Amino acid sequence: MKALQKTSPNFGVEFRDVPRPTPKNGEALIEITAAGVCGTDVHIYEWNGGYEFMAPLLPLTLGHEFAGRVVDVAGDAEGLTPGGLVAVIPSTPCGRCAHCLSGAAESCERRTAKGTSADGGFARWTTAPVANCLPAPVGVDDELAALAEPLTVAYEAVLKGGVGHGDRALVIGPGSIGQAIAVYARQAAAADIVVVGKNDALRFDALRALGFDDLIDIGDGDLQTTLAPRFAERKFDVVFEATGAPEVIGPALAFLRKEGVLVVAGIHPRPTAIDLTRLVRERHQIRGTQRAPRNVWPRVIDSLAQDGERFRHMISHRMPLDRGVEALELAQSRRASKIILSPFA
Ligand SMILES: [Zn+2]
Ligand SMILES: [Zn+2]
Repeated sequence: MKALQKTSPNFGVEFRDVPRPTPKNGEALIEITAAGVCGTDVHIYEWNGGYEFMAPLLPLTLGHEFAGRVVDVAGDAEGLTPGGLVAVIPSTPCGRCAHCLSGAAESCERRTAKGTSADGGFARWTTAPVANCLPAPVGVDDELAALAEPLTVAYEAVLKGGVGHGDRALVIGPGSIGQAIAVYARQAAAADIVVVGKNDALRFDALRALGFDDLIDIGDGDLQTTLAPRFAERKFDVVFEATGAPEVIGPALAFLRKEGVLVVAGIHPRPTAIDLTRLVRERHQIRGTQRAPRNVWPRVIDSLAQDGERFRHMISHRMPLDRGVEALELAQSRRASKIILSPFA
């Protein structure tokens, strides 16, 4: 089968012919039907910092947001049915380390993740532990099931931010994660949600379709200067950083009220300086978030079943897998919201 792989620690990706994988005991063979292109994939494609840990693992098939049909199961099927659509949890704890054995699998240091440390979903077939395959309920089709992974990331970010009733939330970065953070912040009863972007007309269209209208495009301007007239006196309870741009951290803190929480969700290619004296005086909290624990997945899949047509607005492009490189370029250019690749398109 053809797989879209990272083959060397430099710019680029390539299609390679690789054998169809065989499921080991406890694994399912999945025929992938929809795989989302993520900012992570773009970073790995460009190789501009943050993913150096992958270098010894190459070549490796990218893609960590995917869904597909169960073809075969080795061992106990545990409720999976042949042909059934599943959303796949890409990350698997080792199950053997002290953290895993004590029930703290989220802290596992030997976790593998499809698409970043194991072969992922930009191929026709893949294998995954049966326990990672979550059957899609009625109303959740292939492309919606492929949205589950980024939605769990956003859901977890909103939990980390402790968003509560009546809160004012600022979301910096209108990509898929920022869009879904806005949705789940609204679900958590935030009263006021402002989303900021930078030359982001197309991604703002997705946000409008999701029901948000307090959108600020700073264009080529500077975040601090553009937002100060509006928000210097009316700060936010929670600010979400979903850009991976280190230069937004300073302004993000500037618009946070005393005791407010900054949730950092982006992968940043370099360190940034923070005014710690101001942090102390304002008693700000900075919280990192990444992935989501397993218990978030059923909640997100339930939200997809309830409100799938709303979430579908996040998808701007559907392309065949063999145009994967073009899709990465398109995602990089911000002329796309979520792009779904399909080996069958
Ligand atoms: Zn992703
Ligand atoms: Zn472990």
